[in-house]
Amino acid sequence: MERYRVKPKSSIDPSQWDPNDRSAFDGGKKKGRKALLALNERLEMLQELLYAENRHKVLVVLQAMDTGGKDGTIRHVFEGVNPQGVRVANFKVPTPKELAHDYLWRVHQQTPAQGEIVIFNRSHYEDVLVVRVHELVTAERWGRRYDHINQFERMLVDEGTTILKFFLHIDLDEQKERLQARLDEPHKRWKFNRGDLKERQLWPAYMEAYEDVLSKTSTAYAPWYIVPANRKWYRNLVVATVLVETLEGLGMSYPESEENLDDVEIE
Ligand code: AMP
Ligand code: MG
Repeated sequence: MERYRVKPKSSIDPSQWDPNDRSAFDGGKKKGRKALLALNERLEMLQELLYAENRHKVLVVLQAMDTGGKDGTIRHVFEGVNPQGVRVANFKVPTPKELAHDYLWRVHQQTPAQGEIVIFNRSHYEDVLVVRVHELVTAERWGRRYDHINQFERMLVDEGTTILKFFLHIDLDEQKERLQARLDEPHKRWKFNRGDLKERQLWPAYMEAYEDVLSKTSTAYAPWYIVPANRKWYRNLVVATVLVETLEGLGMSYPESEENLDDVEIE
């Protein structure tokens, strides 16, 4: 999965990354879906181990343009995982109370505790994405945030959090199709809002903002992965593989049991 990881301090132009790429897996959709089921099972076991060991904290950040597939990724990658110990934190337009604090205040409250996996569906990165594109604060102010964010994540990692960040990368054509599907399919209509069309007009500005996010905030301790996301099955495979490989790399083990349990008889 190395090929999708953004090396620290590299200069990244998302348009140079192919959202249709599927070079890391042989075979097509059918084989890919089967491979995902196997990864789901491994993830289920690893999450149980994480919970039992109660030592590591895992933070998964998902960012994407509208229709990029954040919800679908959560649904498919974490399928079968015990909901106890996994939590999703959604970051929407900040409430007045949240806006009255610094931008990391609401984020820090949602970071994972020991034994827990937390998935950020959007994140503090909105504070240098939508906030930048819509000029919700001055350039001087959002310009300082990359350093804050790197320092904040450094602190989380120093204190025992493992951080993985995924940019689900689709292109304009794919977004058009997915927005159209939201109009055409009755069970998807609830997801359609006209506001998304306005955001779509701002695609180039968002790509510029993502360019800075990916170039400035991919670190050795909290790397970004650019996930080719035009194909949903491939996107799921990439995210699940990175997650499983990272959790396996933590070297976790079940806690010691009480001594001499072999002698225990239950009457
Ligand atoms: P959705 O994910 O479709 O439910 O939409 C959530 C909306 O909240 C998106 O339009 C985001 O851009 C917006 N949002 C999230 N975080 C922020 C933020 N910090 N400031 C302004 N808007 C935000
Ligand atoms: Mg939306």
